[in-house]
Amino acid sequence: MSAPFALVEATVVTGDSAGTVVPGMTIVVDDDGRIGQVGSTAAVTVPSGYRRIEASGLFVVPGLINAHAHLFADGKPLPPILLKESAESLVSAFMHSPAGGWMLKRRTRTNVLTQLHSGVTTLRSVGDVGYEVVAVANEIAAGKYVGPRVLASGPLMAITGGHGAPQIALISDSPWDARRNVRRSLRKGVTAIKIAATGGVTDARVVGEAGRPQMTEEEMTAICEEAHNAGIVVAAHAQSQAGITAALRAGVDTIEHGSSMSDEMTSLFKDNPRSLHGTSALIPTLQACLPLVKLDPRITGINAIARANAEMIGEEMLQGIRDALANDIAIGMGTDSALTHVTHYNTWRELDMLVRFGGLTPAQALHAATQSNARILGLDTVTGSIRTGLAADLVVLDENPLTSFRTFTAPRYVVVGGAVLEAPAVTRFAEIDERLDSLENDPSAR
Ligand SMILES: [Zn+2]
Repeated sequence: MSAPFALVEATVVTGDSAGTVVPGMTIVVDDDGRIGQVGSTAAVTVPSGYRRIEASGLFVVPGLINAHAHLFADGKPLPPILLKESAESLVSAFMHSPAGGWMLKRRTRTNVLTQLHSGVTTLRSVGDVGYEVVAVANEIAAGKYVGPRVLASGPLMAITGGHGAPQIALISDSPWDARRNVRRSLRKGVTAIKIAATGGVTDARVVGEAGRPQMTEEEMTAICEEAHNAGIVVAAHAQSQAGITAALRAGVDTIEHGSSMSDEMTSLFKDNPRSLHGTSALIPTLQACLPLVKLDPRITGINAIARANAEMIGEEMLQGIRDALANDIAIGMGTDSALTHVTHYNTWRELDMLVRFGGLTPAQALHAATQSNARILGLDTVTGSIRTGLAADLVVLDENPLTSFRTFTAPRYVVVGGAVLEAPAVTRFAEIDERLDSLENDPSAR
């Protein structure tokens, strides 16, 4: 239950890919947290007793959906000592201890609220330490506090020695082991599944490891079958043509990060018989990669191997976006929050980078983060659009975001499930923001 209200005389930015903007709109939100009416102010009757929020001169967009979030850290670069291989097992042991679990849950709460306060009303975690995100998602769903809608993955699934293993992964080396891991996570209440189809940048030990195929098609097929039987979408970390092709053949629903595309890949994205909804989508995560490539390694603190892998992956990711645009493949939006330089309040920067570096129009970027992500995650009958019957997940902004996504840094209101947050604030890291601002002048930006 939330107090019913109406946003009166707002300009609606619908989040469609054409960039439709409709002035003079009134949105009525009922006490069940859903949109009861939406239409031109003259055509809508605000029921008596409803709070009226004058929104003349303000812009309303669907709440953002972040399809690729981690919540175990705040995005500040890790101190070099923790990046040493010798520290890995110590950090991991602490994270999996009771004290570590308590700390992770507290951090997760803080981080999901930071995302909410910057306009993210739905997020999907794709690789957690344990089941701390499931716990927080359940608290929110039970109404303990106001938070975003959270799809939680629990630990990702990887092979021995694979990406994310052993710190944040359940390990398997056969299809049946993989099935057992999915079943175990489902039993813990996950609402998303994430796998590492290929190597990654952050934990590669040799140049070229990022993108190298890791999980076999058979293993991924087993995982997809188990997840799809439970109605759950599978995300695959995948950064090469070979790895992505195997993942798509297995029925993976969302390819995270991506690469340039072969003909087989483009046709599987558009028509994937083994996927849950018949198609697969690309979710690039530029914010995790471009700063590593474009900023001085002395600032980012990454080693030469990670830097070389990031360069290779970055180029491929950008080509993947171009290929998706050229072939009309669904593109979603994810930030890879918690990785170094990816804070929980900078979701708008991902949209900005999709435009500056990825070649999307601002309308296509907002679409990826709203209507497209809702469809990709199977939530389009719940959220992602400003439509009668959907959850009142809205962001009210001073400026048209299609002119500048930076307006998301200071929303007037964030509305989630009908609960209104007025001028929500977040804690920012000035140093990170300065560095990311400097990328706007990068020669490869538009
Ligand atoms: Zn990630």
